[in-house]
Amino acid sequence: MKRGLPRPSNKAGTPIPYIAESGAKLGTAHLTRRLEVTQGWLCQVCGEPVGWPAYGVVCVDGSRWQPDWLLDHGLLHGACMRLSLDHCPVLGTWSGLLLLELNRADVTMTEHFQLVVPATVQERTAIDVSRFRQPGPATP
Ligand SMILES: [Zn+2]
Repeated sequence: MKRGLPRPSNKAGTPIPYIAESGAKLGTAHLTRRLEVTQGWLCQVCGEPVGWPAYGVVCVDGSRWQPDWLLDHGLLHGACMRLSLDHCPVLGTWSGLLLLELNRADVTMTEHFQLVVPATVQERTAIDVSRFRQPGPATP
């Protein structure tokens, strides 16, 4: 899987995240790349190292994944967060989700390579998702 932006697209024209199993299975993480992304502090969308602050999404209603785990166990660049919001059906509804602007010290890696952000840090780092829904160039 190639790294960086722009992302390759599947047959429907949807960009394929670096962490995805394949163009036909966008919602399933490729096991090796998932580990690579978390262990290497890479962006789950483009596969390049994140800078700080990086972005992460947590599910705060507990319905889809553990409340303190980052979405698909990975961080994102700002531009990649915007790309995800434009194309990901899970993020499209923005139901029960919280967007975090994180520094390295905010994120803990578990022994199972899950990236975890404690609830107190979530409260401190939460930002308004509409910041990434504005038209125009991706910011930051
Ligand atoms: Zn990225």
